Amino acid sequence: MTAVWHRRTFLTALLASLIAASTAASLPVVAIDPGHGGDDSGAVGILPPGAETGLPPRFNAQLRPVIYEKDANLDVAMRLNAWLLARQFPTLMTRSTDNAGGDVPYVNQEADLKARTDAANAAAVTLFVSIHQNSAHTTASGTETYLKAGAPEVTHLLAAGVQRNLVLCLGLPDRGVKERSFYVLRNTTMPSILVEGGFLSAEPDVALLAQPDVRQKMAEAIGGAIFQYAGLGDPGPICAGVGAAPVPVPHTVVLTRGGRALTQRAGIDPTRGDLWIATVRDAAGATMSGVTLRARLPNGKGVTTTSRPDGKALLAVPRRAGRLVVAVAMPGVKVAARATVPRRVRR
Ligand SMILES: [Zn+2]
Repeated sequence: MTAVWHRRTFLTALLASLIAASTAASLPVVAIDPGHGGDDSGAVGILPPGAETGLPPRFNAQLRPVIYEKDANLDVAMRLNAWLLARQFPTLMTRSTDNAGGDVPYVNQEADLKARTDAANAAAVTLFVSIHQNSAHTTASGTETYLKAGAPEVTHLLAAGVQRNLVLCLGLPDRGVKERSFYVLRNTTMPSILVEGGFLSAEPDVALLAQPDVRQKMAEAIGGAIFQYAGLGDPGPICAGVGAAPVPVPHTVVLTRGGRALTQRAGIDPTRGDLWIATVRDAAGATMSGVTLRARLPNGKGVTTTSRPDGKALLAVPRRAGRLVVAVAMPGVKVAARATVPRRVRR
């Protein structure tokens, strides 16, 4: 009962924040789908001994450093999410941790993919971008963008723009826009594309994708194409990479209760739950948008939320006495906040 209530009101709060943000500027709501996750590593690329990736360290059976596609995809997705949120685009991440779609443990591919498309369809996002890296048994190298057969003209426009920017920013061979009915393309109800940045099986590609700077460029390439697709004109420099745009690291999270009025405005019955607000700041004290937080609610449920352009992330918390723990979901960053949720009071 509590779980059903919570899921509904959490979605209401999430949708309210999405709608408030999207109507403000009439910007598309972008679903960002980092391919694979959890027990599904995706493709694996072998790196030279001692290589640094800025991703979780992974090794193969021969103890050679390797790069997992799931890690590279999530890194690019988080960078794209930050890029879009900084420009006021509302976004939805289909996963924001090393898990399957919906940030739940990986069970099987069908459940993983279904969670991703269900989330995008339920939130009525405007467009869907799935992020992958390729693999082949040949020496294939280069960038591809996919859409489903029979996709509308707007999807072709989006795919062409993303492919053009990716080739420009990554400098890998242009393998073109292709049609294929991947699950996430077939089962989403909005214009949807799937990008394959490079081949983890190819030496030049994996050497590029191992660099945080290149993954930042990949994110900016996709973001820039979405910016133009939205009719906003020139997105500015899109192949700048991390050298030009350092990624700030969250330093503090502060938890506050939203108060009765805010709680009601978010569609929550104040006798049954509260809206809590987690504010994320960097070391300089500036609020940070696009930071994904994982929360553990007093009822034991885990939920994910992302800070908005004002640095605030919203959480629907059931009125059940216990601990509320919110932690930044970012590799290597240990920043969390804790609060005590008081017992339910009759009013
Ligand atoms: Zn993949």
